[in-house]
Amino acid sequence: MSAVHKTSAGIYRIEALEWPWLDHGFGTRASNFWPPPSKLAMVKQVHSDRILGAGASAGYIGEGDALVSNTAGIYVGVRTADCQPILIVDPDIRAVAAIHAGWRGTAACLAAKAVDRLRRDFGAEPARLVVAIGPGIGVCCYEVGPEVAIQFKELFPERGGELEHKTHLDLKEANRRQIAAAGVPDCNIHIVPLCTFCSDEFHSYRRDKDKGRMISAIGILE
Ligand SMILES: [Zn+2]
Repeated sequence: MSAVHKTSAGIYRIEALEWPWLDHGFGTRASNFWPPPSKLAMVKQVHSDRILGAGASAGYIGEGDALVSNTAGIYVGVRTADCQPILIVDPDIRAVAAIHAGWRGTAACLAAKAVDRLRRDFGAEPARLVVAIGPGIGVCCYEVGPEVAIQFKELFPERGGELEHKTHLDLKEANRRQIAAAGVPDCNIHIVPLCTFCSDEFHSYRRDKDKGRMISAIGILE
């Protein structure tokens, strides 16, 4: 597990994703001024498995829940409250992805599809990818009904019949397993062990019932 630290601007960063040519971070309530909006490409998030390729344009580039890019000078970002923000980089070819994975995106294997999209669009190599799963609701606080839980039976075979009832679901671990199955080495997958519901430094949709969201983003610098 790579070291996690918080900057003075209120952004969590992962040591394993720090290169001089790359900027990345997971936002908190306090980090509304990062990254610069004029350089940030986002999507209108719809809990889908749709992935958009970002070009040189900032702003909203369409509907979907993940973005991939190899354009220097542009950040790709997602907005989350309890959903899992996931950032990916291939440091050799300099390609990045940002993913918004709630239970629907996770059930649809969105993070693994983004790994594949990086390979197809840019020639990324899954064995080289470095991944960070950011602050999102933890298994401690994420209770779901059987209609949601049952969709994760294959991913969590050890839980057996538990997932046929109301139970707690670990979306960080679910995404970790899918990303590992897509070919990313375990040692390259880093999880920020912070729960948005437990800590009020984050927006939490479930706790606050408001529209506050954090931005998490990754960008290749010019
Ligand atoms: Zn919690």
